[in-house]
Amino acid sequence: MTARKKILVTGGAGFVGSHLCDRLVNDGHEVLCVDNFYTGTRNNVIGLMDKAHFEMMHHDVTFPLYVEVDEIYNLACPASPIHYQHDPVQTTRTSVHGAINMLGLAKRTGAKILQASTSEVYGDPEVHPQTEDYLGNVNPIGLRGCYDEGKRCAETLFFDYYRQYGTNIRVARIFNTYGPRMHPDDGRVVSNFIVQALKGQPITVYGNGSQTRSFCYVSDLVGGLVALMDAPDEITGPVNLGNPREMTIRELAEQVIAMTGSKSKLVEKPLPGDDPTQRCPDITRAKTQLGWTPGVMLEDGLKTTIDYFKTTI
Ligand code: NAD
Ligand code: UDP
Repeated sequence: MTARKKILVTGGAGFVGSHLCDRLVNDGHEVLCVDNFYTGTRNNVIGLMDKAHFEMMHHDVTFPLYVEVDEIYNLACPASPIHYQHDPVQTTRTSVHGAINMLGLAKRTGAKILQASTSEVYGDPEVHPQTEDYLGNVNPIGLRGCYDEGKRCAETLFFDYYRQYGTNIRVARIFNTYGPRMHPDDGRVVSNFIVQALKGQPITVYGNGSQTRSFCYVSDLVGGLVALMDAPDEITGPVNLGNPREMTIRELAEQVIAMTGSKSKLVEKPLPGDDPTQRCPDITRAKTQLGWTPGVMLEDGLKTTIDYFKTTI
């Protein structure tokens, strides 16, 4: 039994954040979930509401927060392209001001702080698979810039707080993650394809579907985040967290159709601007430094996710 810690999860009512809250409460910790419900919902944490050691606070991380905690997981930020492009100025503000406020909180309280960064810091990568020392290929003025550059700036702030103030930081670069509680309308590929297949609607493949992604099941990701937080202090990251099984978007569409038994057909739609052509994590660092490796097979994770959407849409 590990000692009970007081842990802040920003963005805790979102997809990943709610699974992280579940895990931390189950591990016996006291969890303060902070969220402004921009994309997250109270429903995602409804199962925790009656737990004595769980607290939900409606708060926007672009404003300062005064609480006493031992650890901070900073996940607050819309993650799907539709959501983060809806109000791009607020997206950058959330990443940058949110990081400054949460790092300020960590500095004052001496808390350890983990940043949920993203594979988007690599942009449309010319190095494949992506290693943490690859500096990326991001268009600062494109449609994804608000998210990509906001997250890059947050990483800069984390490392400057580390060097300048000795703040105890961790940076996780998260690759595409999926699972129950994804928002059915957030436009991300796994939720889109499953919802379309279950409703018998056309499966919208952007471009010709030859672009690749690598999909990690949410429980694996949560395990990686906790392992990084619990790692020795010299391990700051950045550390890639993702599943290195790479596939084309067309292959994913075909797999979803097969697993749902849907009669839906594929239709090609225009490829959105700056859509990365390939993405796959090199997870050597996570394996060697954290002893972490994802264990959930795509087929198993998709089955659980399909079952979830069957009961919710
Ligand atoms: P999500 O949109 O489901 O969750 C984000 C949460 O942050 C939501 O609950 C939202 O309401 C909250 N939020 C947004 N702006 C806020 C603000 N200003 N103040 C307080 N709360 C705010 O997304 P997710 O998939 O759960 O992603 C969680 C984190 O992981 C994000 O930081 C995202 O960038 C990162 N990430 C996720 C993925 C993925 O595939 N899911 C990949 C890379 C990185
Ligand atoms: N995509 C698609 N059809 C959809 C939604 C997404 O073909 O209905 C593609 C999208 O163009 C991208 C990939 O799937 O190439 C992953 O998109 P997602 O929005 O899930 O994540 P990201 O692009 O941020 O990796």
